[in-house]
Amino acid sequence: MNLNPKIDRIPFNLPFTTGKEMEYIKQAIATEKLSGNGKFTKKCQAWLESRIGCQKALLTHSCTAALEMTALLADIQPGDEVIMPSYTFVSTANAFVLRGGVPVFVDIRPDTLNLDETKIEQAITERTRAIVPVHYAGVSCEMDTIMEIARKHNLLVIEDAAQGMVSRYKGKPLGSIGHLAAVSFHDTKNIISGEGGALLINDPELIERAEIIWEKGTNRSQFFRGEVDKYSWVDVGSSYLPSEINAAFLWAQLELAEGITRKRLSTWRYYHQVFKKLEYEEILHCPIIPDDCQHNGHMYYLLLEDLATRTALIEQLKREGISAVFHYVPLHDSVAGQKFGRVVGEMKVTNDIADRLLRLPMFADIRESQMYGVSNIIEEFFAAYSHTSSDRNIFNSNNLNNLNVDVA
Ligand SMILES: *Cc1c(COP(=O)(O)O)cnc(C)c1O
Repeated sequence: MNLNPKIDRIPFNLPFTTGKEMEYIKQAIATEKLSGNGKFTKKCQAWLESRIGCQKALLTHSCTAALEMTALLADIQPGDEVIMPSYTFVSTANAFVLRGGVPVFVDIRPDTLNLDETKIEQAITERTRAIVPVHYAGVSCEMDTIMEIARKHNLLVIEDAAQGMVSRYKGKPLGSIGHLAAVSFHDTKNIISGEGGALLINDPELIERAEIIWEKGTNRSQFFRGEVDKYSWVDVGSSYLPSEINAAFLWAQLELAEGITRKRLSTWRYYHQVFKKLEYEEILHCPIIPDDCQHNGHMYYLLLEDLATRTALIEQLKREGISAVFHYVPLHDSVAGQKFGRVVGEMKVTNDIADRLLRLPMFADIRESQMYGVSNIIEEFFAAYSHTSSDRNIFNSNNLNNLNVDVA
């Protein structure tokens, strides 16, 4: 084991493979059917339906594609509004903008960095069609409250569960709670197929149309089930099916989903016990996981004092061969976000954390020596930094006092 982190280059992400991928891809080739909706696609979809407990799962070539399908299923018309966080990936908004929809951005909670459910109702107008909770870092949004608001105002809830594979909220897997959900198998996520995703459907009334949209606007799925005697163009749609080669790769990953999650959670816990000490010394903040949420170790992030501290730490880590990265530029601040979206209320938490959040190397096969390398460099950085910074106490320098819950 190489304990010298300086020689040990540590990437931010390293795609994990189970070793079964090639075998399943060979099997897919042997079936002489490489286009979508074959044996491996069906196996993956059945796994998602039973493991997540959704009514229907359809594999897609990305989570972005699955989100675009949700916008079609929600029948988003020009001017229709969709409430979502600004601290998210562009696809959350783009999927609706493509249909002429207007992303309406509200602030996030200071603890989970998820859509602040107490800010949703003030953003609802007669044009509102849907709420899109994004489960940041695989930690669930406050879904009971969000579902209740949606019920009261007759809105669709579309979970962006891109980062949420096998996480749970009050025991329920993410992706099984909203009317629709989208997951990602992009190689930066926990369970991967290179590029990939799935649409999960929990409202049975949306299943038939989802299959049609998935199959380029045709009723081909019904035809193959023998429900119609020929298939033809019946609705809008596009090509959303991944090939069997992708599905075969994904099957090898789904089989080991629990093991992959356990590996990531053990890294997450290692980081957490190390950095809790720095949190106790009021140097930084660690992620907060509410009691109702069982997460999947998708991400370990630190909230640092300010942008300057983050920049200095990123540079220090880079000098040691360690890649740690920040995350989203808030969408409401982006060129397209300003053109297509609008903001309701203050974006205090979003604006504050975007400059201070740092993600640490996290992948299923990270070695212990690499985890020690990362934590040692950060501890050394703050040991030195505390002598040079005159105002290091983030509990006082930060105007968001409500961030300072749960240091226990
Ligand atoms: C990764 C991600 C997406 C997009 O996933 P793709 O599979 O790359 O299209 C969408 N939303 C969130 C929150 C993500 O993290």
